[in-house]
Amino acid sequence: MTTIVWFRRDLRLEDQAALLAAVRRGRPVTPVYILDDETPMHRKMGAASRWWLRHSLKALDDALRARGSRLILRRGPAHQVLAQLAREVGASAIHCLRHYEPWWRNAERALQDILPVGTALIRHEGLYLMPPGSVKTGSGGQFKIYTPFWRALAQHMPPAAPRPAPDTIPSPEAWPESDEIDSWGLLPSTPDWAGGMRDFWMPGETGAAKRLDDFLPRANRYQEKRNLPSIPGTSFLSPHMHFGEISPSTIWHAAMDAGGSVETYLKELVWREYAANVILQFPDYGVRNARAAFDHFPWRDMANADVQQDYVRWTKGLTGYPIVDAGMRELWATGWMHNRVRMIAASFLIKHLLIDWRVGEQWFWDTLVDADYASNAVNWQWTAGSGVDSNMFVRIMAPLSQSEKFDAGDYIRRWVPELAHLSDPYIHDPEEYGVRPANYPTKIIGHRAARERALTAYAMIKESG
Ligand code: FAD
Repeated sequence: MTTIVWFRRDLRLEDQAALLAAVRRGRPVTPVYILDDETPMHRKMGAASRWWLRHSLKALDDALRARGSRLILRRGPAHQVLAQLAREVGASAIHCLRHYEPWWRNAERALQDILPVGTALIRHEGLYLMPPGSVKTGSGGQFKIYTPFWRALAQHMPPAAPRPAPDTIPSPEAWPESDEIDSWGLLPSTPDWAGGMRDFWMPGETGAAKRLDDFLPRANRYQEKRNLPSIPGTSFLSPHMHFGEISPSTIWHAAMDAGGSVETYLKELVWREYAANVILQFPDYGVRNARAAFDHFPWRDMANADVQQDYVRWTKGLTGYPIVDAGMRELWATGWMHNRVRMIAASFLIKHLLIDWRVGEQWFWDTLVDADYASNAVNWQWTAGSGVDSNMFVRIMAPLSQSEKFDAGDYIRRWVPELAHLSDPYIHDPEEYGVRPANYPTKIIGHRAARERALTAYAMIKESG
């Protein structure tokens, strides 16, 4: 009788409750990862995430092999493939960490229905500091607003201390068949756009631990530096956390032990928790406005060629707004964008270009290495003003003054080479200062005109709502 450990976006051996529980049973363990591109409601991973996944799975397999085990790879509708594997290996139990995306919750339910008799599905917590749904309001309900959620969650902290990886993992006498990872076509080939990502990231548990080690000496300056895109002021842990290569509890304890003032950082970690709680309450948050009035928002029509062109200029970093363009090019090159710049670039798409936030959400989904259904949807709806807790639509960010305020000069020089010769303050708005080089585009739309257009559009839903 063997035990299956079902890995999804929890690709680590340390502080991995499912793996630890399986090993403790003392029976052979079969670790498996299933790529599900087939279940209709399953949101297919974007291209940047697939690149990450390929390397993270390889790292996980290496780590398992170092402990006498290995990773079995299968492809297809996850619940069916898993039930089939359970039959093949005669599994008495499948251990996994509980996942909260609507499609994973469905898959867990569907699996229960088709498991062979004698196979138990045992779910553990471990993706979050607190299980989504477990932090309740005074009256026993769910939080919709971040700040009271943070206060309530903080009462339960610190989380349990992280547990080390098992030294050895008992293996079965014969391994079931496994796909070759390179048969999955997860990496880009023609063209190979992943060069910048290879330079910047090291997917896997070791890469995650390195990022944490690099961040800890800077943790007490996080509050002061986190909004400055020109310097490494944040932790760069988001893709590692999304793929579960490091547990939030490990990060929480390490940040506390680092000393100094780390509360602002811990609060950011809790935005991730909050987002998971929001999608648990509103599973279609990634595709549906939480405020119904926004269903009538007069977004510009993507079928129109001019709107398409504006959108493409945004994706390519050719809007004529240096801070937006730097962000969009950083995203394309590395699969990541600084948080402050994400807010500016998202706000620009929504309010300056009047393009539906869901179009931007999809672009980020495809290009971010940390693309996360909950965090992406919550942040896009926050920026649009359509969310349960969100910025007001009428607060329209001025990209050029944000750029100056957060000292983005070096950041722009790094990502927009056409402007690299410009010094401050010209770099923030070369068109306004009359120094725009010929190879850098003019602004798609002026800030004032964009602001007026956005406010007029918003007035229409305010009146109708
Ligand atoms: P740090 O500042 O070091 O923060 C530490 C960790 O806290 C992050 O790794 C992340 O897990 C969490 N965190 C921080 N800020 C947020 C936040 N606002 N919301 C949720 N979690 C947060 N983050 C994602 O992980 N995936 C996404 O798909 C995603 N999409 C976004 C879309 C938009 C429009 C915006 C404005 C933000 C989005 N974010 C997303 C949140 C945030 O930008 C990133 O988590 C952050 O930039 C990651 O960098 P870091 O690890 O250096 O963060």
